[in-house]
Amino acid sequence: MPEPFQNRGPRPTIYESSRPGATCVCAPVADTRDASSDAFFGDYARQAAPALPQVSEVEIMRHYAHLASMNFGVDTGSYPLGSCTMKYNPRLNEWAARLPGFAQLHPSQPDETVQGALQLMYELQQDLCEISGLPGVTLQPAAGAHGEYCALMIFRAAHTAAGNPRKKVIIPDTAHGTNPASVAMAGYEVVTIPSTTDGLVDLEALRAALDHDTAAFMLTNPNTVGIFDPQITEITRAVHEVGAFAYCDGANLNAILGITRPGDQGFDALHINLHKTFSTPHGGGGPGAGPLCVSAELCPYLPGPVAVRTETGAYARKNPDKSIGRVRSYMGNFAIFVRAYAYIKMLGAEGLRGVAEQAVLSANYLRVIVQDTFTVAYNRTCMHEFVLSGANLKAETGVSTLDVAKRLLDYGFHPPTIYFPLIVSEAMMLEPTETEPLAALDALAEALRAIAAEAKSDPELLHSAPHTTPVRRLDEAGAARNPNLRVVQGFCS
Ligand SMILES: *Cc1c(COP(=O)(O)O)cnc(C)c1O
Repeated sequence: MPEPFQNRGPRPTIYESSRPGATCVCAPVADTRDASSDAFFGDYARQAAPALPQVSEVEIMRHYAHLASMNFGVDTGSYPLGSCTMKYNPRLNEWAARLPGFAQLHPSQPDETVQGALQLMYELQQDLCEISGLPGVTLQPAAGAHGEYCALMIFRAAHTAAGNPRKKVIIPDTAHGTNPASVAMAGYEVVTIPSTTDGLVDLEALRAALDHDTAAFMLTNPNTVGIFDPQITEITRAVHEVGAFAYCDGANLNAILGITRPGDQGFDALHINLHKTFSTPHGGGGPGAGPLCVSAELCPYLPGPVAVRTETGAYARKNPDKSIGRVRSYMGNFAIFVRAYAYIKMLGAEGLRGVAEQAVLSANYLRVIVQDTFTVAYNRTCMHEFVLSGANLKAETGVSTLDVAKRLLDYGFHPPTIYFPLIVSEAMMLEPTETEPLAALDALAEALRAIAAEAKSDPELLHSAPHTTPVRRLDEAGAARNPNLRVVQGFCS
């Protein structure tokens, strides 16, 4: 008996669908065989044809279209994943990134044949400097975390040049996990300081930790509970008094675009997550780009090459004098630069400021309409995101934040970021972004309200959620720690 058709349910794998002789393309049979290849590859030369699935064109189209339909993305529904800035990605960006003049370049081409690409990178560098208030930038880092690591290597180089590389880096307990990880990778000791009850930097604790062994202080501003630290200039001044560098984790730049600049707040370095703030598709591991902006003092240490404009007006690649070297192959993730450039030029200065204003307005609107359902962790005017606590709901009903997040999937929403930041128990961090329509914000609040009611009437329904997705509750930690990516069956093993 055939099973009823289930669009979102499991289907045979592409290997299971394989039929000998089925094909999508009829490539001409090669009339020569490179005689040198066997000699070149030796024992590694392939002895038999690869065991690729054999399917027709329509079958492979359906295979990929089906996989895509099982996924959830910003094009499917609301994606309020706090700190990740899952905004809509305008199709204009995608058009620009696919232009053959950009898409078909090879990064080893001589400068004179890639003037347009270098000009784009040069102008993007200029724009990021203007936006950040810092005079130097490298586009090379492949992600925010990579930008952090790159900054710490630059701090080490500058401190070493001044006679002492120093030993430790201070970070507040609200920090994203990548901050301490980058510090450890760069060979510094992590010193964590507690936040105040308002979720802000405890200036006294910071002053007590700062000394001449401090290489840097890393701060996300606005921070991970969605609050802009009003003591920011005092903080950066205190850091500079001991000769340390002030680092801004710029993942939350979306909240302040065109309104205030980290450079003007006294930061020496800042990474920008192009894939968050400047709208390029991300999630699921990339690709991204984490350009690092630095102060004049740190410019000579930037990784090379950077795009420059020569006296003749031509564009070129150049290594800064005391460059720490390369941190990535070639210039970085170029297609992401094209998307970010398109986004910046499309919006212009006014438009970018509008992004921040709208993102902050959306977050505050959502915060106010959900505050009767969940406890808002720091209930004051927030920036582009805010944190809810599910602790009361859990005490009352046994339903955890994880259960609520899974149930949201049944209502057609991507869950918020959960259990982060670590200082809020049963945390849910919501970032609607500027692109979410008003009706979608109302619908999300409505879903949260419905789920809180279900927690009281039928907690079991939530413990076992989700119920309508292609796969049900997964062992996520197990999948991450012991990934099994192989289909075990005769054909491909
Ligand atoms: C996303 C994020 C990072 C890391 O950026 P990636 O591009 O994912 O490496 C660092 N800090 C904060 C606050 C973030 O939200």
